[in-house]
Formats: sequence, C-alpha cells, structure tokens
Amino acid sequence: MARQPIDVLRSVFGFEAFRGQQAEVIDHVIAGGDALVLMPTGGGKSLCYQVPALCRDGVAVVVSPLIALMRDQVAALRQFGVRAAALNSSLPFDEARRVERDLRAGALDIVYVAPERLLTEEFLSLLDNCKLALFAIDEAHCVSQWGHDFRPEYLELAELHDRFPSAPRIALTATADSPTRRDIVARLALGRGRQFVAGFDRPNIRYRVAPKDNARQQLLAFLRGTHDGQSGIVYCLTRAKVEETAAWLASQALDAVPYHAGLDKSRRAAHQDRFLKEDGVVVVATIAFGMGIDKPDVRFVAHLDLPKSLEAYYQETGRAGRDGLPADAWMAYGLQDVTKLRHLAQTSDAPEAQKRIEHQKLESLLGYCETTRCRRQVLLDYFGETLAEPCGNCDTCLEPIESYDGTEVAQKALSCVYRTGQMFGVGHLCDVLLGGETERIAKFRHQNLSTYGIGTDLKRADWRSVFRQLVAMGLLIVDVEGHGGLRLGADCRAVLRGERRIALRRDPRRGRAGAAPKSKAPAMIADSADEALFQNLRAERMRLAKAQGVPPYVVFHDSTLIAMATHKPATRDELAGLPGIGQTKLDRYGDTFLAVIARKDNP
Ligand code: ADP
Ligand code: ZN
Repeated sequence: MARQPIDVLRSVFGFEAFRGQQAEVIDHVIAGGDALVLMPTGGGKSLCYQVPALCRDGVAVVVSPLIALMRDQVAALRQFGVRAAALNSSLPFDEARRVERDLRAGALDIVYVAPERLLTEEFLSLLDNCKLALFAIDEAHCVSQWGHDFRPEYLELAELHDRFPSAPRIALTATADSPTRRDIVARLALGRGRQFVAGFDRPNIRYRVAPKDNARQQLLAFLRGTHDGQSGIVYCLTRAKVEETAAWLASQALDAVPYHAGLDKSRRAAHQDRFLKEDGVVVVATIAFGMGIDKPDVRFVAHLDLPKSLEAYYQETGRAGRDGLPADAWMAYGLQDVTKLRHLAQTSDAPEAQKRIEHQKLESLLGYCETTRCRRQVLLDYFGETLAEPCGNCDTCLEPIESYDGTEVAQKALSCVYRTGQMFGVGHLCDVLLGGETERIAKFRHQNLSTYGIGTDLKRADWRSVFRQLVAMGLLIVDVEGHGGLRLGADCRAVLRGERRIALRRDPRRGRAGAAPKSKAPAMIADSADEALFQNLRAERMRLAKAQGVPPYVVFHDSTLIAMATHKPATRDELAGLPGIGQTKLDRYGDTFLAVIARKDNP
C-alpha cells in the first residue's frame, strides 16, 4: 500500500504535523494534480514535493537552478535516509554515470537536475524509461522575465508536460507579485493546476531600522551581546565597503569574512563554505550573496546601506530565521542613503514608464524607513496583505515612535536653505540654525541672516533628522553633482506659506554608546532550556558534521538541539518524540546525543 503523507512526515522527517497549506498541496500532487505554490522563504516548500516524492511510485525529478542549493538539499535528504542525488555540471563524469544508472534501476526517490541538463535529449530519453513520481520546478520565478533571476532554459520546461503527461508538475517560488505569478502559470502551462498562496508574514523576524549615526559602532553594538557566536549576513552596497567592513569587524574579534563578485572564485567559495559549515561566521556581502543559500540558522541580516527596493529588502531579510526561531533584521539608514538612491533614480536613463515605477518603489522604501507605524504592517501592506493588529515584534511596536507637528520646524529648516542660497549641505545648515561660529559662517556672513540661531531649541542630531525627513519627503533636493548642497523642492511652497502641515517622527534618543535604546534581543533559547547543554550538543553536532563534510544543520537543526536541551530525554523513545528526529537520524545519532545529555559535565 502507498505510504500516507503524515506517516512519511513523522517517520522520515521526524515532524509532528504539516504546516499551513502543506497537507493540501501534498494531497493534491499525490492525486496527480499540477500546482503552483507560493510561500515565503522558510515556509516549508521543500516538503511539498519531497513528501509526494516518497508517497508516489517512481522517482521525483526536481529542477533547480543553483548547484549549491542542490548539493545542500541532497545532503540533507540523505541524512533523513532518503535516496537522493543531483545531476549537474559540477559532477565528475563517473559520478554522473552512476546517478544515471541508479535512475534507470529505479534506485532513487529524488533526483535534482539543472534545467539545461534535464532538457538534453539524452536525459529526456533516459526519463522515458523511468517511472516518474512527479516534476518539481523550484525557484519557478526564474521562468519570468519580470524577475531579476530570469533563466532562458526555464522557458523550455513547458515541454515536460507534453512529453510526460502523466507526471504531475509542482512549481514553487517565494516571489509574490502578480505579474510574475501570471507569467509562471502561462509559461509553464500550469493553467489547469491549482494555486496555493500562503501569507507572506515572517513573524519570527524582528524588523528594526536605526537612524544612521556612526554606522560601524551601531553595527558592533547590534552584533555584540545580542548575536555573539551566531551566523549572519551584513549587506553593503559596494565592494570596497564590504572589504572595509569585514576587515574592521575582524579587527574587533568577530569571525567576519567578505563576499562579493570581485573576489576570486576560490576565496569566494571558501568563505561561503565556512558560512555554511561553521557556526557563527558573519559574511559581509554585496547583495550577490545569499541567492540559493538555504542555511536555516542565519540569525540576523544587517543592512549598512539601503537595499534597492522593498522587494529586495524583503528577500534579503528573508534569509534570516528560516528555521522559525527568532531572528533579527536590522538596518542603519541616513541622509546619504536617501541622496544616493534619489540620485540614481534621477539620472537613470530608463524609459519614462520604468522610471515612474522606480520612483514609486523608492518612495515606498523611504516610507518604510521613516514610518511611525508598525513596520510589519507597512511591509505586508506593500505586498497586498493586511495585518490587522500591530505586530509587537518590530522597533516601532517595541519602542513606539512619537510623531509631532513639525510644520514650524520644517519652515525654519526650509527657509534656512533658502536664505543661505540653496547651496550648502546639512552640516553648515545646522551650524546656521544653531547659531554656530564657524569660519564658513563668518566668510559668508551668515550670522546676519534672519535664520541664524533660530533653531537652538533642537539638538544637532534632531536637525539632521529633520533634514533627512524633508529630503525623504521630496521637500528638499540634494545636489549630488556638486557638494551635496540642498535646494528647495517644488512642493515646499505650501509648507513655507503654512498651507500644508507636516508630521515628523522623533528619532529615538541614543544612549552614550551611540546605540539606540535596545529592546531586549529576541531570546532563541527559552529559560527552561539548559544553555550549557545546548553548547555541548552543538559541539557534538559540529564534530559529526565535520566528519561527513556536511553543514551542521543537516545533522540536526538548532530547534532540535534546543528541544533536547529543554526536555533532556533519557531514552531513545523520548528522543524520538522531539521535532526533527526521524527513524534514520534516530538510528544514526540517537545514542551519541543521549550520551551527551547524560554526561556529568553538563551543569
Ligand atoms: P522554503 O523552501 O520554503 O524556504 P524549507 O522547505 O527549507 O522552506 O523549510 C524551512 C524549514 O522549515 C526547514 O528547516 C524545514 O525542515 C522546516 N519545516 C518545514 N515544514 C515543516 C513542518 N511541517 N514541521 C516542522 N518543520 C518544518
Ligand atoms: Zn510591529
């Protein structure tokens, strides 16, 4: 008799119950239906095809665009005792032959293939002679020209349907927007299939945006104490900044390595490998890093520069906390970021229509940074979802941001720009407002202006915040060709005349160390768990992973180790009841971990 999905989930993967729409998707595919599955990163897409692969007869063919990802998935599946293999260009000839032989012999449950390989006549005719459980098309948005990951080979995957009409096809992606979704359905000929769309919220990620002050120190304050010994990614815009930041973090005794397209291939691979296989490596990277990395225990993603859009931000921060445990998304944001992006938008030579879209995207991103609302509500709104209540797990929920009627303050700032001739940067404008005595003020005789010294009721940091917000609102424009001087935007008349009122946010006060007052970091380990035991279990896991050359998380996830440290099982049966421990892992590692738990040196 065919295996039941829930039995496979429990005995092979060691999970108790399906999540969200998994069960529905799985039943649908097992019954032979086509499906398009949209789930956020970490939503559990893999099981949607892995479980049917084990319930249906024959081999499941999984199309995946990224070799690193394939390798990881195969390693993880083998740990669960699933007969999995991958076929791609990185495989030595002999091994490829062996995989093909196993395929022919029906000795595989799941085979991962790169699209260009799959579509060779040689491979297709091999499949003609195999019993096929299903086709899974991972990262299905690669078929769409809308996304930035377009892969022409994906277009030809529609042929699979004609050639193998009896094998169900399931396409999966985390890319949500509707043009891409329509494109996938059209190009993969999934019109008769069902669509499963999951909500996009990632409740375990805590979103925070800090006004940039001393970005490095702020980053350090964020990393130290809250994320000691944890893996994470720090994103920067340029290669130079990646190198500098990584070197500086390393000098502060953090295990940080750079990653960008300019590094030579072997160094890049080595850094990625360390990130995957060791605990607690921080990768400082340009956005190129992270695509196709399925590391579940990335505990934080930090942005030192603004991403290109909210989509990019959501994708990048989404790499944190795939395992569902608490994770942090932190970003430092300042006037220069706004300036840079505005400049890029203005000088872009894209067609008008494209420019308008880019402009809207930029406004949404800035709106997110400057919001006084719950950040998660703003994010989900943007993706067309509604979160009824503020989330309680973002900075604006945890430390509510005050907004105030900033009309008068804005008027002072704007007229100061006007009176000084619309050519000076924020530093000098603050000097004038605060009644400073600098060379420049003397040189231009700005002490005689009516705006000189009218701003002493605010601190310099407050004025900086005001200018940043006015630029973000488009009321001031930064002259990026020159020296970053500010001039008035077209809309500022109404403000100066008092016809339009302006609400401003009051940035949180910084403490002495330059960091914003910290809400306590989300605790990964509950108080009831034994921290010392957890560390011992981690060390054991690392030993086992090293011996096999696989990442530690394919042996056990953190969540499984935390469960061990909490419940301290003493027998195999008790151990088997914990999440993430299926039959194969129980046999393979059960006794080893029981011994660690029983050891006397755990306090
Ligand atoms: P995605 O591919 O959607 O990003 P994954 O398939 O990698 O997500 O799943 C994310 C994590 O959630 C994995 O670590 C996986 O083991 C875990 N997971 C998925 N489904 C379940 C479930 N039903 N119960 C427990 N853990 C699950
Ligand atoms: Zn919130």
